[in-house]
Order: sequence, then structure tokens, then C-alpha cells
Amino acid sequence: MRLFFRSPYSQTATYPNAKQVSLTTYRDADGQTSAVKASKATELNVPGLPKNARHALIDAIPLASLHVHLGGTVSPELLFQVAERNKLLPLIGEAQKEYHSAGDLRKDYAFQGLNHFLKFYHLGTEAFRTEQDFYELTFDYLKSCKKQNIPYVEIFFDPQSYPHAPLETQIEGFQRACTDAKKQLGITTKPILTFVRHDGFSPDKAVASAMALLDALEALEKKRPGTIKQFVAVGLGGIEDGYPPALFKPVYQRAKTLGIQHATAHAGEVLNSEDIWNAINELGLERINHGQNAIHEEKLMRYLSETKIPLTLCPISNLLLNNVTSLENHPLRPMLDRGLVVSVHDCDPAFFNEKTVKDNLHAIAEAQDLSPKEIVQLARNSFLSAFMPDTEKQQYLADVDRLAKQFHASA
Ligand SMILES: [Zn+2]
Repeated sequence: MRLFFRSPYSQTATYPNAKQVSLTTYRDADGQTSAVKASKATELNVPGLPKNARHALIDAIPLASLHVHLGGTVSPELLFQVAERNKLLPLIGEAQKEYHSAGDLRKDYAFQGLNHFLKFYHLGTEAFRTEQDFYELTFDYLKSCKKQNIPYVEIFFDPQSYPHAPLETQIEGFQRACTDAKKQLGITTKPILTFVRHDGFSPDKAVASAMALLDALEALEKKRPGTIKQFVAVGLGGIEDGYPPALFKPVYQRAKTLGIQHATAHAGEVLNSEDIWNAINELGLERINHGQNAIHEEKLMRYLSETKIPLTLCPISNLLLNNVTSLENHPLRPMLDRGLVVSVHDCDPAFFNEKTVKDNLHAIAEAQDLSPKEIVQLARNSFLSAFMPDTEKQQYLADVDRLAKQFHASA
């Protein structure tokens, strides 16, 4: 059966041609566990750790994962497994290209920019249909978090991206995976109800589609009381150009009246600082996703430094979607230097050379020669940026500080 792309993503791309970026493998190939490496680093007993100890610190330090799209975590292998089960093979991509294997698909994961990437994102999400599909999708990512020492996760859950699965089915599979992850892996997971900026092919339709999602959620709440309060925040993702955050003000207001407490949104990933101001002022944001383009406006940088509105940065995503020219030039370091609450995340790891949160941190630490103290600060920032009660934050921060102490790297 065919899977069709949604049409609006064929907007004019404003990006240079895709470049093949080969990223070094940042993990050590010595087969040692993080614990072994950590104990070796502790033996070094020096304030500034050498490079291999920096690797060990990153491997061992606890982090919160706050910027990841559920559909961005699906490996080509899982996608083909699900598509086969749902009798959807071969997958049909752009220009009617047929994909018969995970390897075929992976070969085309080189993107010209955000809009081009989104075509592949939706090729994947449209295959997901059943409760079991959503269970496997969610649990797969949480298993990878366990390996990375990520005990707390907030996931962008975007039901509009799965047009062939009822909302209830999506939520049931997701929640079952979260419950199992808590029991089996010790990971706490919270969904962020994320609206797709470009859904419906025009700004008006995008807002109507977001409102329809809230209608469906409200109806589901009547059937399954407690559904809404599972969502820790609302979010907004997708194409920025042509879909200013202000459009979604009524959507955010309504979500708040329904009882979803916090607000976040993607902004300033592709567009400039005006998009970020618009998102802050119109949507009442408490956290910005990406926002790396804030670096180009001094007034905004000052504002973010003073207000401590956090930014969740995804360096490898920015590089592979041509939103920064190199990791060395990524704004993370100047933002950190200016006291902005920035942290490092993986965004859509399955599409970006399967680079995890820790891979992102290794990559940016190496490219910008981050000190152990800066790495610890980034880890602390990830928990400080989370939508969780202060008492819980303090527990996670204490874990970070304990680990930092072992490495003589307290922030
Ligand atoms: Zn994102």
C-alpha cells in the first residue's frame, strides 16, 4: 500500500544543497562501561580533565532529554517491521520512489533542510496504526535513554502526524510504554502535546487542525478522565516560514483552559530572532526549542539571559539541516558564556546518523572544547529546564552534583 506525503512540504526550500556530513564516532571503542571509565577518571584527581576523561564524564553524567520528537526516534528497521505488519510495503516516497528495505531508506537520509527532512519524518509516521505500534515506538527510545543514563524524558507527542491512528490508540500505546519504562528501566516520561505548524496545508487549516486535536482530546477526557493531565505542556513544531507562532495563540489559550499547564514551542531554528520574540510574546513560552538564531540579536540574548527562559539546543540536527555551518560555529558556547540556560538534545536521532543525546554532547564538547565544568553546567541546565516540581529537580541535580564531584568537575 502506498503512503503519500502531505503536499505542503514542497514549499520552496531556501537551503543550500545538502552536504554529506561524516561525523566521527564519538564513543570510545574500548568496550569499557561508563562505570569503569568513571572510576578511572576519578583516579586522575585533577581539576581539568584530559580528553578521554571528558568522554567518561559525558558518558556517566545524568541528563534530562527534553527535545525529542516521537516520530524522529523511529529507526528504519522498526519502521519496516511496523509497515510490514500493517501490510504497507513497499513504502512509497517522493517522486514515487519505492523503498523495499531499511537500508534503502537510510541511504536517502541526507536532507536539504527542515522541509525536506519533514517529508521523510511523515513517511515514517504515516505507517503507525495500532496500539502495539505506538508502544514499540516509544519503548525503543526509552531503552536507548536507559543506556545513556537519562532518567527523565519529555517527548514531543504530535498526534496530527499519525493520520491513520485514532488519538486514543496513540495515547494507549504511548502510556503503556511509559508505564513499562518506569517499572523496568526506572525512567520517568512525560508527553508534550505538540501541534504541527504546517498541518492542513495553509495557516488557517493548521489552526483548525490544532483545534480539532483539542476537541478530540476533550472528548477523550470525558471517556477516560485524567487523560489531559498526563500532558506536561503544549508544544509547536514543523515548518516555521509562513506559520508564525501568533497564529496559534488561541490554540495555546484553549489548551491552558483545558488544564495543560506549561508552554513551549520551536522557534528561531530556521527563521531569525523575530520568530523567537513572536513565540515568547504571543504564546507565553516557558522554554524555547532550538532558538539558536537568538545569537544574532543582542537585545534578545540579554532578555534570555535575564529571564532564564531555557533553550533546548540540538547541534547535530542544526548541522545536518544546514542551520549552522559547523559545530565549531554553533552558538552553544557564546550562549553558555552569557549565562543562558541552554542544554543539549537529540531532536530526531533516527534521522540524524542515529546520534543520541550523549552523542550530541560528545560532538559539541569536542568541537568547542568544553570544559568539565561546562559539561556539568549543561547537565544541570537540562534538569533546570524540565517541567517538573522543584523538589524533584533538586533530587536530579543532586545526582548530577554527586557525579561531578567524583570527576572534580563541579559547575
Ligand atoms: Zn525539534
